[in-house]
Amino acid sequence: MIHLASQFATPFHRRLATDQWLQKLRSFLEDTLVSHQEYQTADAIGSVRAAFNEDRFTGPLSLVKYDFVVELEVARLGTTLCKDQYNASLRYSPDSDTFAFKIETISTVETRAAERKKFAKVDKLVHTIESGGSRDVVDRFACPWCGGKVDVNFHPSGTVFAVYCETDGMHFSKHVEISTPPSWWRDKVSENWLDGGCC
Ligand SMILES: [Zn+2]
Repeated sequence: MIHLASQFATPFHRRLATDQWLQKLRSFLEDTLVSHQEYQTADAIGSVRAAFNEDRFTGPLSLVKYDFVVELEVARLGTTLCKDQYNASLRYSPDSDTFAFKIETISTVETRAAERKKFAKVDKLVHTIESGGSRDVVDRFACPWCGGKVDVNFHPSGTVFAVYCETDGMHFSKHVEISTPPSWWRDKVSENWLDGGCC
């Protein structure tokens, strides 16, 4: 069961969000929660609002007037204290009377713990570089998110380095100040730094 508070500000959205429309949205979200095995239940409480909550976005040619943001707290089994989160941007199609996702964010106790483990691995790598560890450690390190290669670049001054996933910097990318760089740092100097020691 999903309890959804509607937070609509414009007359257009208030007219659109009939009981029937909200019921359809709730069913859609319930099916979604069931389909994501990360969640223990499909019981949630949350809200829906228009992504663009002003009259000027609700003209006849506007597509974004059908964009919505949903934020849910999803119940876990055997506890009322701890909840999982589900956030989504979605678009309603009036022609087919259906919803479709644009972006979904799944955040559960377990996914958050897994993320923390991945960040801890990166922190360990950073610490190895800071404490003068060998370059092999960097070369052997696999990105915790994709398993791909990781690279490290030092600022020509040797006082800052960047470590990041070569496949996609969105996986992780860290800039770290360092007082004593490891012996091999000059082999990994990059000129692609902007002033201020940030690439
Ligand atoms: Zn990666």
